[in-house]
Amino acid sequence: MKTLIVHAHPERQSFCASMKRVAAETLRREGHEVVVSDLYAQQFNPVATAADFGSRARADYLVYAMEQRHASAAGTLAPDIAAELEKLQWADLLILNFPVFWTSVPAIMKGWIDRVLVSGLCYGGLRFYDRGGLKGKRAALSFTIGGQRHMFEPDGIHGPLETYLQPLERGTLAYVGMSVLPAFTAWHVPYVSDDERHATMDEYRDWLRQLPAATPKRFPSMDDFDRKLRPLRSAGAVEA
Ligand SMILES: Cc1cc2nc3c(=O)[nH]c(=O)nc-3n(C[C@H](O)[C@H](O)[C@H](O)COP(=O)(O)OP(=O)(O)OC[C@H]3O[C@@H](n4cnc5c(N)ncnc54)[C@H](O)[C@@H]3O)c2cc1C
Repeated sequence: MKTLIVHAHPERQSFCASMKRVAAETLRREGHEVVVSDLYAQQFNPVATAADFGSRARADYLVYAMEQRHASAAGTLAPDIAAELEKLQWADLLILNFPVFWTSVPAIMKGWIDRVLVSGLCYGGLRFYDRGGLKGKRAALSFTIGGQRHMFEPDGIHGPLETYLQPLERGTLAYVGMSVLPAFTAWHVPYVSDDERHATMDEYRDWLRQLPAATPKRFPSMDDFDRKLRPLRSAGAVEA
C-alpha cells in the first residue's frame, strides 16, 4: 500500500512527531511504501491566494475554487501545491497526523487541505462522497489531544469525539471520495506518565498494523439523493 503521511507539529521531539516516525517505520516494516509531508519542516505555505495560480480563468475577481479547476487542468498550479497533489494522487492511503488545535487540525494543515484538495480533481460538479475525485483511496486521522477520553464520551463535558471529527472525516476526507478508516487518538499525552505514553505508542503500532484491513466508516452515498441533493429515502439511510 502506498501511504502518504501528512504531518503537522511545530516541535520535532513532540509525541506527535514520534507518532509520525513510528508510523513510517511500522508501515515500511509491514512492506508498504511511505512518503511523508512534514508541513512545518517544509515551511508549507498554508494561505490560499491568487499567487497559487500561474494562469487565471478570470483575472479581475478571484473565485478560488474556479481557479483551482482552471489551473489544475492547465497545469499551472503553484509548484508546492502540484508537488503535494502528486504525492496525494500516488497514495492509496492518506494519514493526517497532528495535535488537535481548537478541536481541529493546526492552521498549517488546514491550509494544506484548502490548497491541495483542489476543485476539479478532488471534488466538484456533483462529484463528492462516493462519487468524489479521490474515490478508491483510504484515509485516516491520527492525532494527539490534550483532553482525556471521558471528556469526549456522549455525556462528557465536550460531547462525543465524533462531533469534533466530523468536519474532517465527513466534511473533508469522505467528501472528496476517500474511504475513512477509524481514527487513532493519543489521549492526554502531555499529562500522563512515560509508561502510559509508551503503552499508547504500542497501541498506535497495533492500529497501524491493522489499518489496511480496517472497515471504513459509513458516510452518505450520492445514490440516496436526487440531483438537488434532497434525500430519496429516509434520513436514517445516510447517517454517518
Ligand atoms: C493552539 C492549541 C489548541 C489546542 N486545542 C485543543 C483542543 O481543542 N482540545 C484539546 O483537548 N487539546 C487542545 N490542545 C492541546 C493539544 O492537543 C495537546 O497539547 C497536544 O495534542 C499534545 O501532543 P504533543 O505531541 O504536542 O505532546 P508533547 O507535549 O510534545 O509530548 C508529551 C510528552 O511526550 C514525550 N514524548 C515524545 N516522544 C515520545 C515517545 N516516543 N514516547 C514517550 N514519550 C514521548 C515528550 O517529550 C513530552 O514530554 C491545544 C493546544 C494548542 C497549542
